[in-house]
Parts: sequence; C-alpha cells; structure tokens
Amino acid sequence: MGRVIAVANQKGGVGKTTTAINLASSFAAAEVNTLLIDCDPQSNASSGLGLAKDPERISTYHLLMGAASGEGALQRTELEQLWIIPSHKNLIGANLELVEAERREFRLRDAIEPLRERFQFIVLDCPPALDLLTLNALVAADSVLIPMQAEYFALEGISELLDTVERIKAALNPELAVEGVVLTMYDDRTSLAKQVSAELKKYFGEKLCMTSIPRNIRLAEAPSHGKPALLYDVRSRGAESYIRLAKEIIAHYFPQATETPGTPEAGTPGEGEGATAEEMGKTA
Ligand code: ATP
Ligand code: MG
Repeated sequence: MGRVIAVANQKGGVGKTTTAINLASSFAAAEVNTLLIDCDPQSNASSGLGLAKDPERISTYHLLMGAASGEGALQRTELEQLWIIPSHKNLIGANLELVEAERREFRLRDAIEPLRERFQFIVLDCPPALDLLTLNALVAADSVLIPMQAEYFALEGISELLDTVERIKAALNPELAVEGVVLTMYDDRTSLAKQVSAELKKYFGEKLCMTSIPRNIRLAEAPSHGKPALLYDVRSRGAESYIRLAKEIIAHYFPQATETPGTPEAGTPGEGEGATAEEMGKTA
C-alpha cells in the first residue's frame, strides 16, 4: 500500500513546494512509483514540473469536486516513475464550493484511495493556509512532513499546525503521523541557524530529519526550467540533499531497500551513481 505524505506548513514561502517537487522526484529516481498531487491553487508544483497553465486540463479541482477519477487525472512527467495531478487557480473556488458538500473533508482521501495500490509514495503539496484544501490533504495523508526555516520564531508558528494535526487525529484521521520536520534553506555557517536547529532537535527529537536542505541557488532556478533539481543539476547540493532526504524516508518504510540504492535516471546516464546516500553521507 502506498504511503501518502502531506507537505504542509501554513506559513508561506518555507519551501513546501520545493520539498514536494524534489522529494517526489527523488523517490521516482530511486525507482519507486510516485505521484505528486498539487493541492495549492498557486499551482507552483505543476509549473515547477513543466506543466503549462491549462484551464481545460483535469486537475485537483475536478478530483475534489468529484468530476474526475484519480486515474483520469494522472499526468506523466519527464521522470519515468513520477506522475502528477496538477492544480489550477480555480482550486481556490473549491474552498467555498465544498463548504456545503457531503464528506467535504474526505474528498481527496476518497478520490485517491484507488491509487494507493499503484504508487509507493503519494506526495501532497499544500497551500500556505490551514484551509479546507490543507484539511483534505491532512485527512488523506498517512503522515505530514513539515518544512521549516531555522528562524527564531519558527517554533511559535509550528504549534498551530501541530494543534491542527492533533485535532484531525482526534476527529477525522486517527492514523495521521508526523513524518518529520525538515529544515529548509539552511545555512550552517550562521550561529543562529545552529542554535535554532539545536532547539528544534530538543523539541522534536528523532522527528527532526537528519537531512537538512541547504540554501542552494539551483533549487530556486530549476522550477523556471520546469524541472526538478536532479534533472537540472544532479550534482548541486540542493539536488543531493533532497536525494538524501528521500533515502532517509525510504529507509524508514522499506528498510531492506537501503542496501541497494536506486540511481537517478533522469535522462542523465552516468551521472546517477554519484548520488547514493552512502556517498553523499561522506561528503555532507
Ligand atoms: P508557498 O507558501 O507560497 O506555497 P512554499 O512554502 O511552497 O511557498 P517554496 O515555493 O518552495 O515555498 O519556496 C519559496 C521560495 O524560496 C521559492 O522562490 C523557492 O525557489 C525558494 N527556495 C525554496 N527552498 C530553497 C532552497 N533550499 N534554496 C534556495 N531557494 C529556495
Ligand atoms: Mg508552495
């Protein structure tokens, strides 16, 4: 059965979409069938994977409104084992249109249930709000991955999200777990970043992912080329760190798989071998 991971944080610009795109791509490059679902009307995950805006295309909106099946909404990407269900800005309307709807919090969960057999990982990119769209994602998810910047007030913002997770667990999705907290745009040269990261380690313990994501210009550039970082520059620190994060999460669910790491295909033959977690661990 596939594992559904929601990438969520109601704070804007913390690296949710960058994490969703590059984590999903790294799963796919490690040869596990992966689906990325863009649950944000901003549609950044869709454009970041090279899908042009197209109001006619079946999107997450149709999925939530019951106008399309999960199967019917799948789109291929440049990576052989990565599929996407894109978003469109009309998804904003779903927030209102669903208010009166039956099972309004379960729309996404119900729609993707038949896809769980087919994908080992389904990654959900959430909008920067604790709205009905994020709620649908958290009800559909097995776990939530929380990207965070190492800032002084980082913990204050996170408590509202953790409260929401607890409420959803109590009322709508008892299985929901915290997958982890991942530090993004991390600069280990600053003492503030180190201090905050030590605080977070104390607070979250082993839920703080071992891999943190450095600030890396390639991660910011790649979406404008419609590519995940590992197709844009597989040797960049940004691409390598997401490959390592994917390995960390894969190892959690498929412990036996870590012995034979997959190599990114990505149409870059010969470059993939360098990207194993073992090797990167040494250079980290
Ligand atoms: P929103 O809340 O609007 O959905 P978000 O949480 O999805 O935002 P992103 O869009 O992933 O955040 O990132 C915000 C900006 O920071 C983007 O311009 C992105 O390219 C850039 N960015 C994200 N992570 C990194 C990184 N590790 N290094 C450099 N730039 C990054
Ligand atoms: Mg985003």
